[in-house]
Amino acid sequence: MQDERFNSIRMVMVNTTHPGNIGAAARAMKNMGLSRLVLVAPKDYPSDKAVWRAAGALDVLDKIEVVETLDDAIADCGLVIGTSARERRIPWPLLTPRECGDLTWAEAEQHNVAIVFGREDRGLTNEELHKCNYHVHIPANPEYSALNISAALQVIVYEIRMSFLAWKDGKAPHFDDWDMPPANHKEMEHYFTHLEKTMETVGFLDPENPRQTLTRMRRLFSRIRMDQMELNIMRGMLTSIQNFIFHTNNKIQSLEKDSDTPKQGEN
Ligand code: SAH
Repeated sequence: MQDERFNSIRMVMVNTTHPGNIGAAARAMKNMGLSRLVLVAPKDYPSDKAVWRAAGALDVLDKIEVVETLDDAIADCGLVIGTSARERRIPWPLLTPRECGDLTWAEAEQHNVAIVFGREDRGLTNEELHKCNYHVHIPANPEYSALNISAALQVIVYEIRMSFLAWKDGKAPHFDDWDMPPANHKEMEHYFTHLEKTMETVGFLDPENPRQTLTRMRRLFSRIRMDQMELNIMRGMLTSIQNFIFHTNNKIQSLEKDSDTPKQGEN
């Protein structure tokens, strides 16, 4: 039994260096019933090496989408999960691969879900990881915890398949009914830009020295996972704050101008 939601789940590989890993990822995906693979600015693709490693998964390779930026790859996703081989400085909500499978399968019923994989040598940058709602870590040997990227992808897609099979048996968790869809990645990026500008306008954030404030704001709102209505309310409020400041500044300026112009009878 196939389900529509296999099409709502995509694997995203960022700046992959070795095309063989792309082929191996395509094969791992097809084995587990998935087919949407997105490459963000791959170093060497298309390539015969990818075709060779994909074996019987050429249909997945044919469907590959290549985009320029991570934002493009995840713009329409309501849930974004980043993979990480190690602990990061600012901890983020963390899933086990099993939880990642359950959440992915449950939410894909309602909206697009992306799982993001990093570069072979450096993984994902902090900035990229901070675009994700959750991180997932495969609890490997702490003394040697970085798996080959296609092996890591295999573990993640296997867990999605396990969740699918449990769901087929009536055992998998369902996505909680909610009256509104979650804000997608693109909407959240616009929100963060708006929030940053407003925080600067009111003098709360020093653009020369923002420290970790914006990262912490990102983490806060990633955790909350605003729906579209909540996001519209927050955007509306930020716009009102900006308008208020604009009008107040105008009023102050015209008062200052009035007091500069000599009144009749003065001089
Ligand atoms: N030296 C890099 C290792 C990158 S491994 C680093 O420290 O980040 C390449 C990619 O494989 C990672 O970006 C991630 O997508 C995946 N990966 C490897 N090991 C993983 C693990 N234990 N858990 C989750 N993802 C892993």
